[in-house]
Amino acid sequence: MSKKRSGNDVFTGGNPGTPPPPGAAGWQGPTGNVLKDEFGLEIPVESIPIPSRGLVYPPDHPLHMCETVDIRAMTAHEEDILTSRALIKKGTVITELLRSCLCDKRIDPNQLLIGDRNAIMTALRITGYGSEYSVEVQCPACDERSRQDFNLSTLPIKRLTCEPVANGANVFEAKLDDKLTIRYRYLTGTDETMISQMNERKKKQGMEASQLITTRYSYQIVSVNGIDDKTKISMFVQKMPSKYSLALRRHMDDNEPGIEMQQQMVCPHCFEVSEVPMPLGASFFWPDSKR
Ligand SMILES: [Zn+2]
Repeated sequence: MSKKRSGNDVFTGGNPGTPPPPGAAGWQGPTGNVLKDEFGLEIPVESIPIPSRGLVYPPDHPLHMCETVDIRAMTAHEEDILTSRALIKKGTVITELLRSCLCDKRIDPNQLLIGDRNAIMTALRITGYGSEYSVEVQCPACDERSRQDFNLSTLPIKRLTCEPVANGANVFEAKLDDKLTIRYRYLTGTDETMISQMNERKKKQGMEASQLITTRYSYQIVSVNGIDDKTKISMFVQKMPSKYSLALRRHMDDNEPGIEMQQQMVCPHCFEVSEVPMPLGASFFWPDSKR
C-alpha cells in the first residue's frame, strides 16, 4: 500500500478533519471497535455508507433504515478467499469476501442490493490496497485498449433519493404516463449470481448471452398496472414499445443507489475523451498483479 489513508475521506474526497454534517454521506472513520491479536496489531473496523440507506430492507433485517455498515479491513484470510479456485468457479468470491468482512454476521451479502455490495467492495479495496486503481480499458471511439488510472476514493456515492412504495420494501414505482405504471425492484447479489450462471449455461450451449434487457426486466419488474402474474409480465416485456422501455430504464438507472462507476478516460491512441464504465477486473483486488 503506497499511501496512508486518513480515514473518512475515502468516498467523499472531503477534508478528513471536518466532521460531516448530520445525515451527510461519507465515512465516519474508525469506530473504536478494534480487534487486537496477540501481536498487538490492530485490524481497523470502519463504518461505511450504504447507498440504499437501508430503506429497501425489511424491518427485521439488520440493515433496515441503516445509513452505514461496519466492515473489518481485509487480512490474509480474505486473500485466501480471493484466490480460492472453488469460489472463483462458483462465482461467489465477492459474496464470500463481503461475508468475511462484514462485522455483523447476521447480514447475508446475497440479500444486499448490487449498489450496496459495490460500495462495500470498493471500501474493502481502498482499506486493503489504497485508492489507486490501474486497469485496461477499451476506447469506445477507436476500440484500442489502454491502461487507465482511476482514483477510487473520488467515485461519487449515489444515495437512494426516491422512496420505495412501502417502508422496508425493495419495490419502486415508475409512472410512465397516465396509461402505464410499472413497479420494479433492484437486483440483489442472489439475482446477479443467478443471471451470470444462466448466461454461462447459455454460452456453453453455444447460445449468445443476448436478451440482456429482457432478462434484466424479468428479474426487476414486479407488476405492470397492478398485474403481478409472472407469465403475463414476461409477455408484456417481449412486446413493450421501446418508448416505454427507454423511459423505464431511465427511471431505474437514475434512481439506482450505488457507486458511480462511469468514469472519464482520455485515449492515448485517438485522444478522444469518453465516459466509460470502470471495469472491475482482477487487478481490483490484486493491484500489483499486472504492473
Ligand atoms: Zn481511442
